[in-house]
Amino acid sequence: MNHKQISIQKVTYSYAGNGWQLYPASFSLKPGEIAGIIGPNGSGKSTLLRIAAGIIRPSTGKVIVAGKDMADMSRREIAASVGFLPQDTGGYLDYLVEEAVAMGRFPHLKGAGFLCPHDISVVERCLIETDTEAYRGRSINQLSGGERQRVMLASVLAQEPDLLLLDEPTSALDIHHQVKIFTLISELVQTGIGAAVVTHDLNMASLFSDRLLLMKQGKIICRGRPEEILNKDILHESYGEGIEIMQHPKNGRPMIFPASVSNRNRDRVYLSPC
Ligand code: ADP
Ligand code: MG
Repeated sequence: MNHKQISIQKVTYSYAGNGWQLYPASFSLKPGEIAGIIGPNGSGKSTLLRIAAGIIRPSTGKVIVAGKDMADMSRREIAASVGFLPQDTGGYLDYLVEEAVAMGRFPHLKGAGFLCPHDISVVERCLIETDTEAYRGRSINQLSGGERQRVMLASVLAQEPDLLLLDEPTSALDIHHQVKIFTLISELVQTGIGAAVVTHDLNMASLFSDRLLLMKQGKIICRGRPEEILNKDILHESYGEGIEIMQHPKNGRPMIFPASVSNRNRDRVYLSPC
């Protein structure tokens, strides 16, 4: 196995008390690819990603990272290979932005744990790449949700992991920053890392993913290239009706739209002066 690969092998999971189950799920993430993970709310995307990141242990099955069973690896060892951005990036201690990003360097720090010039330059680069350097001296708890989401991504990138596991990394971002962050992820995978990205934004998933995994009710029900997965049959089956699909005017990728508008707006004449 390539040392930059993660392999999730027949993992299962169940939450105590509510009976929800992740059924045996397998996938490998290879260097140089973006795998988009999509599916309705509650289908198990975050559970699968948290297992892949070693945050929760699978009930059965295993996760192999860099040729090793994750169950035998320390948190520091996992963090040197795998960068994980959780879905919920709130509720943090009152760190400054630059401190929060610098914490991403922890798997690489030696001795007394001081940052060396290389660590500092990595932190600077990640602040710039995520457009967060303007907030560097502010508390992370005094940022907007989208600003904080970019800071937490900067911290994950500062780990310089071989594999990125990102749970809805752009859910709070404006369109400019959504495109910027997906473009950044694309550039990073071109340097040879692999990224698994959970997103509800089917259009971003279509534009930026090399392949998609579609989850429903605790199972990976489909996998393939975006143009194989994002069709009416599969999307209606997963998300219900009310979805239209068109092709992106510049690159032909499938683009997803709601099929209807409200009756109130149906007859509005667009392009009329306000
Ligand atoms: P997704 O990310 O696809 O929206 P999740 O993996 O977060 O879904 O959740 C899958 C299912 O497990 C949901 O039904 C959710 O309510 C349940 N669940 C998630 N976290 C917990 C938890 N800590 N305890 C109990 N049930 C949970
Ligand atoms: Mg989730």
